[in-house]
Amino acid sequence: MEDVAQTSAPALEWETPLFQQARTQLDQALVQARVPQAVVERLRNPERSVVLSLPVRMDDGTIRSFPAYRVQHSSVLGPTKGGIRYDPEVSLGECAALAMWMTWKCALLRLPYGGAKGGVRCDPRALSPGEVARLTRRFTSDLAPFIGPELDIPAPDMATNEQTMAWMMDTYSAAKGYAVPGIVTGKPISVGGSVFRHEATGAGVVMVIERACARLGWDLTKLRCVVQGFGNVGGIAATELHEKGATVIAVSDMYGGVHDPNGLDIPTLHEYAVAHGSLEGFPGSTAVANAELLELPCDVLVLAAREDQVTEANAGSLACKLVAEGANGPTSNAADRILAERGIPVLPDVLTNAGGVTVSYFEWVQDRSRLFWDRDMIRTRLADKLSDAFDRVWELSSREVSTLRQAALVAGILEVSAALEARGIYP
Ligand code: GLU
Repeated sequence: MEDVAQTSAPALEWETPLFQQARTQLDQALVQARVPQAVVERLRNPERSVVLSLPVRMDDGTIRSFPAYRVQHSSVLGPTKGGIRYDPEVSLGECAALAMWMTWKCALLRLPYGGAKGGVRCDPRALSPGEVARLTRRFTSDLAPFIGPELDIPAPDMATNEQTMAWMMDTYSAAKGYAVPGIVTGKPISVGGSVFRHEATGAGVVMVIERACARLGWDLTKLRCVVQGFGNVGGIAATELHEKGATVIAVSDMYGGVHDPNGLDIPTLHEYAVAHGSLEGFPGSTAVANAELLELPCDVLVLAAREDQVTEANAGSLACKLVAEGANGPTSNAADRILAERGIPVLPDVLTNAGGVTVSYFEWVQDRSRLFWDRDMIRTRLADKLSDAFDRVWELSSREVSTLRQAALVAGILEVSAALEARGIYP
């Protein structure tokens, strides 16, 4: 018998604090959305949760076992859609919360999808590329009965990328016997990926900030911005803000941040980060810890790292005029209340980071039609989709005197509820 080491047992409950946060938001939105009780019951729990234990051969020849999950919250509007993350914090509850948020996000953007999310509990930085490839292939193979271009379509999320999606697409296609590009989005362009998908989430964050500026009467070129997170979302949002003439005064990654009150040269900072493996020591900047970065005086604070960053403990100390959520769930419900009392609007995740899944939808449409669009067309269509959703959220929030998050959730929930009522519940 081979040596099998269990990393940790998969947790079977989704009743974790993050799921409670998502559910409390749903309950609060339902006070305003007023949908039938049977619909409420259907939407409070995920439709399907897949819990796996993945055996993976490590480079030293041993086999380790990794807990993995895929939660499909609602398939009312179409196939479920959402990312796959590799992170030590991945749990069933985290995936369930993120899957529920994907449902509201897709519905708000009027994409023909429900929400899903999945992941593997692992430390991706401690794994070799070969180990990540084998883990990805085994995950795809075990998930195969539960995913498909008409069923559930994974995409990148934290610590997964184009390469991960290429391995998923290849593993799924190998079992089918033909190439199935529509099984995942966020793929390399060479295997059916879409131009502008890589940039879409970060660029979308800035499109939403631009719409907010137009409503608030602010000039984007006069904004001083702080960006938490310098990965695929924060790194690109910082670049877009810089290119559009805003001043990015501080950014951070998971190890810490850099601050220059005169503005950071973001393209040079990207080169520096690649060359040095971190932001630390960037010429002309001073080091700033992640906690301090959130409290720097600025106009716009972009939260593009991970969930649970602004909480009851620090919401009172934020010194920004607007929060933009590039990550999913970065602001706790208690923090939301404090920010609302302080008059600091929050551009909510389900709207602000929806550029990623929207261009994923464009990718899937292109894969199905085998007809590919150019960058300008995708950028224009993305801006149109985000503007339309933004305007609906802004107007609902003004009319009902509610936060932008509450309005975004109400708008998304009403779309799902209308479809659920039309289809009927099949008990
Ligand atoms: N992981 C991204 C999100 O949270 C993208 C999901 C997708 O493209 O399906 O929205």
